[in-house]
Amino acid sequence: MTIDTLISNHNLSVSAATVVKPFDSDNFKESVMDTYARFPIALERGAGCRVWDSTGKEYLDLVAGIATCTLGHAHPAMVETVTRQIQTLHHVSNLFYIPVQGQLAQWLVQHSCAEKVFLCNSGAEANEAAIKLARKYAHTVQNIEHPVMLTANASFHGRTLATITATGQPKYQKNFAPLVPGFHYVPYNEIQAIEAAISELDEGDRAVSAILLEPLQGEGGVRPGEVAYFQAIRRICDETGILLILDEVQAGMGRTGKLWGYENLGIEPDIFTSAKGLGGGIPIGAMMCKQHCDVFAPGDHASTFGGNPFACAVALTVCQTIERENLLENVQARGEQLRTGLRALAAKYLALITDVRGWGLIHGMELAADSEITAADVVKAAIAEGLLLVPAGAKVLRFVPPLIVTETEVNLALQILEKAIAAVQA
Ligand SMILES: *Cc1c(COP(=O)(O)O)cnc(C)c1O
Repeated sequence: MTIDTLISNHNLSVSAATVVKPFDSDNFKESVMDTYARFPIALERGAGCRVWDSTGKEYLDLVAGIATCTLGHAHPAMVETVTRQIQTLHHVSNLFYIPVQGQLAQWLVQHSCAEKVFLCNSGAEANEAAIKLARKYAHTVQNIEHPVMLTANASFHGRTLATITATGQPKYQKNFAPLVPGFHYVPYNEIQAIEAAISELDEGDRAVSAILLEPLQGEGGVRPGEVAYFQAIRRICDETGILLILDEVQAGMGRTGKLWGYENLGIEPDIFTSAKGLGGGIPIGAMMCKQHCDVFAPGDHASTFGGNPFACAVALTVCQTIERENLLENVQARGEQLRTGLRALAAKYLALITDVRGWGLIHGMELAADSEITAADVVKAAIAEGLLLVPAGAKVLRFVPPLIVTETEVNLALQILEKAIAAVQA
């Protein structure tokens, strides 16, 4: 079968799916574990920044799989690569060389401060790899027997045991004790807290070996890092040899208008991680570091699926498309347009909207703490009007559209959002 027939068959079966029997959520819940509070629509098809539910209703998608569908849905470049790679070679073991894994790693090295790349399948896995690398670095380079990693309150680093421990939000840790030892939390954007923790924790054979932070806190409420804070941390790390690890899982891959979140802060990390936007929705993660931190040897870390030809080919296509289509410029322009529109809404609904913040195409709109209206209320109203949004905590609405979003689509999203706000206030 040629690529053309495959693509046209794909489109045919997809449009046929919109006329089959209605989706039954009770039936779904009978066999799927109840780990998500889901909004009551079932999504079946997407194209660009639009998705359609099981009833055929169209939505403008400002969720993008939570900052993941970099190129939107059914992007021709992704369709072409997915089709070609599945026909050529989709999976082989890392016991053999995988050329396209090398090409992806080379692209990442050429387009970041990293010199080495480890490929895995998700954000939590990338952070888990970074935590392991920092632990080995502590034992073999820093000579710290009981290394401590500082992380921030309201951070989010994933759902594995080590990454929920790193995550500074008790709600994600509840009932999962005992957690992983060796983590300590500090308030975000407060340099004195970092300095105090480093000196307090330095006792006997225990010391701070690494600081793990998001350049912009995503799940924790879309809170950008402050330039002065990160520059001071960089100085401390340079003076002490403590590693600076940045979790770029949500902020990286062009989302902020720069390829990496750290470029907004004027610093470079020693280690950083990527996942969400990297594969444009195909599962992949990466843990990257400067040469001096690369202490892994054969056997230290591994992943069966990590870096397989399928995921790497798609991620490489996403990277090359960001470059070829000048998507960073689009992110900056559309981000500015979105921020201006959100600020205009905030000025109009003063009692409800208390803050608008973010970088590029990751923005948060905070609702008044004393209002009864929650972010989920506005999301539900927006869904009813045909706009997909996602909360970031109870009181923050998050806007993370595909990086290909157009001027018309941003305007439409703002119009629908205003309708939704008016509806929840009524
Ligand atoms: C989503 C996210 C993760 C976890 O990624 P998964 O792919 O869900 O494991 C980690 N860190 C940040 C900053 C994230 O936004």
